[in-house]
Amino acid sequence: MLDKKYNAKEKEEKWLNYWNDNRIYRFVPDGREVFSIDTPPPTVNGKIHIGHIFSYSQTEMIARYKRLRGYNIFYPFGFDDNGLPSERLVEKEQGKKAHEIGREEFSKLCYETTDRYEEEFQELFSKMGVSTDWDIHYKTVSPSTIKISQLSFLDLVDKGHCYRKESPALWCNECLTSIAQAELETKTIKTTFNYINFKTVEEGEEFTIATTRPELLPAIVCVFVNPNDSEHNHLIAKTAHIPIIDVEVPIMADEKVAIDKGTGVVMCCTFGDQTDIEWWKKYNLPLKHIFTNDGRIIDDVPNYGGLKIKEARKKIIEDLQNGGFIVKIEELEHEVQTHERCGKEVEYSIMRQWFIDTMNHKEDFLKIGNEIHWLITIYCNP
Ligand SMILES: [Zn+2]
Repeated sequence: MLDKKYNAKEKEEKWLNYWNDNRIYRFVPDGREVFSIDTPPPTVNGKIHIGHIFSYSQTEMIARYKRLRGYNIFYPFGFDDNGLPSERLVEKEQGKKAHEIGREEFSKLCYETTDRYEEEFQELFSKMGVSTDWDIHYKTVSPSTIKISQLSFLDLVDKGHCYRKESPALWCNECLTSIAQAELETKTIKTTFNYINFKTVEEGEEFTIATTRPELLPAIVCVFVNPNDSEHNHLIAKTAHIPIIDVEVPIMADEKVAIDKGTGVVMCCTFGDQTDIEWWKKYNLPLKHIFTNDGRIIDDVPNYGGLKIKEARKKIIEDLQNGGFIVKIEELEHEVQTHERCGKEVEYSIMRQWFIDTMNHKEDFLKIGNEIHWLITIYCNP
């Protein structure tokens, strides 16, 4: 019999305790057909939002339905606590950056903090009614996960599927870490489009390049013109003199240059964007890396060494103006790539990195993927 006045709080606690005490969601292989549910573990960054509850409610309905149909449900639940979001959470709580805390102490704080939050998360997901076996829940930073990933990596190295080389990587000079493309966010910011006069070494012919990043002038390795640009293609194969920096670089042709953007003549720097990287690789251009990992100009760059990137931008514009090299400056709103965790504009840094060869096995992966019997795909982005 239901009570006259249904007390949800009381009943919730009663049934949660019943489920726990009787371990009714325990996963025991018992000969019945297993129905597995794989979910992306929520990131431990301090908050659970409605999106988490929404997506796990859907998988929960499937788990319960299949359970009633007689399947043995394998529904492991995990927490993704090995990444930057968790590290940022610790930094926020401590009011200090990781490097100020020290590696060992920071690592300890990361474990303590994520454990604390995971306990809260577990309680919340339990209250929601997630029918997982909490005895087998996993963490992406637990000793067993670390062991599995290290063994798997060593296995790939042994089999010759890994190689190491210097290559540009996305770098956040706020978080002092390399970041993945998936961690980028596009932001619209106000800046200036600076039209700067260059000239050819041969005839001293002036031509203009428009850029939002004049601080990259010391990193120019080449100037590009579209071969179909009738106004500028006579510059191809000549040499450009970079104003103020007093360095000469070749002028080359590439069809990727947008004739209708800016002036149609562009500078290639190492590195301002993805196209710079493409050109650097394609034409085997030299490398002039001018930023330190904490967002300054390296000391070797005369006049600007030691300045923060934005300070250098300001000073270079001033110097260009004083030298009479600025044609005009336009106010501009444009999109920049920022790091989603801190909102700061990202840079490229050249680093020694490990690569795992996947492209040579593309066909195998596709074949295996097609062999898997995919039942349900739910979009989850916790
Ligand atoms: Zn960042």
